[in-house]
Formats: sequence, C-alpha cells, structure tokens
Amino acid sequence: MNKPFLIVGGGPAGLAAAKALANVGQDVTLVEKEESLGGAPILSGYAKLVPTGEWASDAIGGMADAVTEDARINVLTGRTVTEFDGTPGAFSAKLSDGATLDATAAILCTGFTHFDSVNKPEWGFGTYEDVVTTTQVEQMISSGQGVKCPSDGRQPKRVAILLCVGSRDRQIGREWCSKICCTVSSNIAMEIREELPDCHVYIYYMDIRTYGLNEDLYYWKSQEEYKVKYIKARIAEVTSDGEKLIVKGEDTLVKRPITIPFDMVVHAIGMDPNVDNMMIASTFGVQLQKHGHIDKQDSYGGIGRTSRAGVFVAGAAMGPETIDDSIAQGQGAAISALSVLQGVEAAE
Ligand SMILES: Cc1cc2nc3c(=O)[nH]c(=O)nc-3n(C[C@H](O)[C@H](O)[C@H](O)COP(=O)(O)OP(=O)(O)OC[C@H]3O[C@@H](n4cnc5c(N)ncnc54)[C@H](O)[C@@H]3O)c2cc1C
Ligand code: SF4
Repeated sequence: MNKPFLIVGGGPAGLAAAKALANVGQDVTLVEKEESLGGAPILSGYAKLVPTGEWASDAIGGMADAVTEDARINVLTGRTVTEFDGTPGAFSAKLSDGATLDATAAILCTGFTHFDSVNKPEWGFGTYEDVVTTTQVEQMISSGQGVKCPSDGRQPKRVAILLCVGSRDRQIGREWCSKICCTVSSNIAMEIREELPDCHVYIYYMDIRTYGLNEDLYYWKSQEEYKVKYIKARIAEVTSDGEKLIVKGEDTLVKRPITIPFDMVVHAIGMDPNVDNMMIASTFGVQLQKHGHIDKQDSYGGIGRTSRAGVFVAGAAMGPETIDDSIAQGQGAAISALSVLQGVEAAE
C-alpha cells in the first residue's frame, strides 16, 4: 500500500483535490492552518457565489462536510507543515505540532490573502468607517444583518463601488487582474438594489472584466434589470465633508472632474499572494514566480506541476482564480499526483 497524499490547505482547491484522490481509493492527509475548512468563501463569510447564486455556506460548506465525513481523508486543522523532505513516493513531513507523516506526493492548495485596503490610503479605508470592502459587504449579507453603514447603522441611500482596489495597480506593485472582482461587484450591486430598492448604486471602473457568460448575467443584467450605474473613471481620493463621503476623480469618458457624495464606499479588493508563500516555498523547496505566487511549470504536459518533482499546486496559490477553476485545478493536480505512483514524476 502506498503512502497517503498530502494536501496543504482546505479551501475549494484542497477540498476538491482531497475528494478526487479519496474517490479513487487513495488515503489523504489534509493539513489546514485555520481551525475550520472551506478557505476564503467560508473563513471570510462570502454570501451568494457567482456565477451559481448558491450560498457559500451551502456550496463550499457542503464540500467541507463531504471531506470531513470521508474515512479515507485524515483532516488535521490548526496546523502547518514545517519540514518536508524526501523524493516522490517517499516524502516525510513534520507538522507545527511536532507530528510527522509520510506522503506519496504533496499538493499545495494554500490560496491567497485578501488585499489590505489600508495600502491604498487615499481611498479612505481605515480613515472613514463607512468605507468598507467587498468582503465586509458579503459578511453583512451572509450574516443576515443587511447592508448598513458601520458608523451609525443607517441604510445607505447612495453606494459607490470602486473596482480594482489592490489589482492592476503598478504603483503598489500589483500588476495582476484579480479576475473575479468585477463580477462579484456587479452581483453585490444587484443584491444591494434588491435589499434596498431606494439605494442608488454606482460602480467606478477602469475596464469591466465580467468575462465569458458573466457579461450577460452580471454586467448587462445589473444595468438593465437593477439600474446599477457604471462610470468609467479615475478615482483620486475619498474624503468626507463631515456628513457624507466624497468621491473625487475624473470621469474619463467625458474628461470632466467629478466630486460626488455617498453614504458608503465599497472597495472591490483584489487577491494578493498568500502571505505565507515565502515560508511555504522554503519548506517545500518550490519556486515562486515574480509576484510571489507559487510558480507552476509546464501547463500542458501535466497540470499543477511545481519546480519540485512530486509537489503540485492548485487554485489561487498560483494567482487570482475563481472557485470553479480552483476546483478544476485541484482535481487536475490530483490526477497529476497519481502519476507519482507510476514513477512518472520521478523519472522526468
Ligand atoms: C471578495 C471576494 C469574493 C469572491 N467571490 C467569489 C465568487 O463568488 N465566486 C468565485 O468563483 N470566486 C470568488 N472569489 C474567489 C475565491 O475566493 C477563490 O477562487 C477561492 O477562494 C480559491 O480557492 P483556493 O482553495 O485556491 O484558496 P483559498 O480559498 O484561499 O483556500 C486556501 C486555504 O489554505 C489555507 N492555508 C493557507 N496557508 C496555509 C498554510 N501555510 N498551511 C496550511 N493551510 C494554509 C487557508 O487557511 C485556506 O483555508 C472571491 C474573491 C474575493 C476576494
Ligand atoms: S476583475 Fe475587474 S475589478 Fe477585479 S482586478 Fe480585474 S478589472 Fe479590476
């Protein structure tokens, strides 16, 4: 009998990889640093997911339950891997609690870190209570408390959503598009309009990237059915006149300065590399790419390969990713990891 497969990280990618391996009769050890499984959608309290419209607690919570209940999967939460040695088929790992375990191969599913909006101080987060992030609005909706201004609990009458906060911003070293935040923001805008029909919602954008079928389902639907307004603009700063938040910038279509009052401003925050990545790279002996995501090798020969044979990667650990794609990559990396049993990885 071969050794178990080690999955590091219990978000959508890790849950999918663990289940895929267990479903073909393999034993799996899943190591998750937080106390519960589910990754960002559960740990950050996302509401209804795009594009399915399912509640995160049902969809990803269901995946976590299926993994927890699977007798082939040994779930170890509240722990990290501190040492990892050996060769494909015969790895050994040491955990933060001192335990050791053997592994045939490892799949790194360690995900991302939400951009911290205090790194964009001119847009008011951390200075004004009613400047919030998309994750905070998701939590307001998923907790059932509803969308309210944190400063005094009133329902906002005017909400601005600023896109690309912590993405596509070379000044702060974040050159990537976070892929999902346009669609998530359109969805949040519709949810606000549904909950508060008198509230006007404006989305300020550089470009809209509701890619693929989301263009129709979110971009057009939010305008035509929910009357969400989209303004192409360059935002300079968010200030306050003591009563309202003031969004200042330039409407880049008509090339005119804008100064507009709002009750609430929402930052559509991006996906940073996991803050643990330097540590993970050093523990597992894998390379990072230039922005600090885990580097994947050849995309076509074997999905999810890293620079070290027998160590694979899936999901947002490699860069901004959607849940669907993270799940697919988790399953793909599981197939690649199985090749270690045939000696394929060791031989290449
Ligand atoms: C505001 C916002 C809303 C979003 N909404 C959607 C949506 O509606 N639909 C959609 O498709 N996508 C959405 N996304 C993207 C979605 O969050 C990601 O696609 C998804 O979380 C990626 O899954 P993952 O498993 O790769 O990573 P994660 O979800 O980040 O999971 C990684 C797991 O690894 C664990 N971990 C990290 N480091 C270690 C370590 N050193 N050791 C052990 N464990 C570790 C973490 O605790 C976590 O449990 C959204 C993103 C944002 C920012
Ligand atoms: S998905 Fe949209 S909001 Fe997110 S970084 Fe890309 S363009 Fe900006």
